[in-house]
Amino acid sequence: MKSPGPDGKSTSQQAETRLVTAGRDPIAQKGFVNPAVFHGSTVLYPTADDLHAHRSEFTYGRHGSPTTRALQDVMMALEGPQCAGVGIAPSGLAAISTTLLSVTKAGDHLLVCDNVYRPSRNFCNGVLARYGVETTYFDPAIGAGIARLFKPNTRAVLVEAPGSQSFEMPDIPAIAEVAHARGAIVIDDNTWATPLFHRSLDLGVDISMQAATKYIGGHSDIMFGTISANAKAWPMVQETIRLLGVCAGPDDVYLALRGTRTLAVRLAQHHRSGLEMARWLAARPEVARVLHPGLESDPGHAIWKRDFTGASGLFSIVLKPVPQKAVDALLDAVTLFGMGYSWGGFESLVIPFDCDSYRTATKWSPGGPTLRLHIGLENVDDLKADLDRGFAALKAAQ
Ligand SMILES: *Cc1c(COP(=O)(O)O)cnc(C)c1O
Repeated sequence: MKSPGPDGKSTSQQAETRLVTAGRDPIAQKGFVNPAVFHGSTVLYPTADDLHAHRSEFTYGRHGSPTTRALQDVMMALEGPQCAGVGIAPSGLAAISTTLLSVTKAGDHLLVCDNVYRPSRNFCNGVLARYGVETTYFDPAIGAGIARLFKPNTRAVLVEAPGSQSFEMPDIPAIAEVAHARGAIVIDDNTWATPLFHRSLDLGVDISMQAATKYIGGHSDIMFGTISANAKAWPMVQETIRLLGVCAGPDDVYLALRGTRTLAVRLAQHHRSGLEMARWLAARPEVARVLHPGLESDPGHAIWKRDFTGASGLFSIVLKPVPQKAVDALLDAVTLFGMGYSWGGFESLVIPFDCDSYRTATKWSPGGPTLRLHIGLENVDDLKADLDRGFAALKAAQ
């Protein structure tokens, strides 16, 4: 039987091709292009000798199955040659907490970008603080200036590029250079761009994690996380995953794998539609500012252009000052933009947000009400018409 091509680790293939070919083993699957969904805990060993030697490709359900292996192979192929291993977690937040537990111990110091996902902060301020790890937050625009925040016990730096509410773009290569000179590990929450648009392991990041709940899954029907690590960091991540017993259910593993097969076409559309909607919104009289690093006017644009090959469909807008009831009228008037947390699925979403209540290293004062938009896969003219209705309701409610 013809195999689908090189094993997916080939770097001569483009990413779109690797997303389609990696992790496929039709001979093992009796010809089927996709692996089975292995619902399994027990793995049987054929002989006592095999049992004693743990001689088996798979040893126990928690440690993986052919379904998880297929997904790990796709993620490895997508991350590129720096990737030494991919861990699987039951949610994006579990991927972050597992990663942070992998690289810290009592008495360590951690540097965290002020724009990271709020529950990541809660984990640092809650669990890590209880276990004696101190966190210092830093300005996303700090760049090489992060050097002055390092202490002798600084073990790791966590960044998110861009932050998923305010969209500031930290300079990852500059931060990584300083961190590596001081022996610290660099962790990137790469959920916004995915490794398709941002090969963070190639840019000096040691551990790149995904809330695969978002674009990898892509259909708003799973909770899932992945942790990709380079050769330096993978042994720590792998050991912690084993010690904690972190794993995910087989149906979610399968749906994440299925999501990877269409990731490239979905993200290309989110990129196009997102930028078109961002430009359209930037020209609206009701909008003071659009926070999207793909726009030439954005302060993070130069970094985005240098380090990213595309943008996803998530960005924010700052409205000109209006009463809250006018913002609520807009939210109630739109119908294609659902009000809900999360993003990365096929559907458009909108939520109001406010970073001011939890930021500590920087002051967040956008100058007007802020909305985060996820541009889904609907037709952009329909989305514009929906927002037109929203803006009319906003005007009428002032
Ligand atoms: C949603 C999200 C997470 C957490 O993912 P869950 O799967 O919801 O736990 C982490 N980081 C970012 C940037 C996210 O948007």
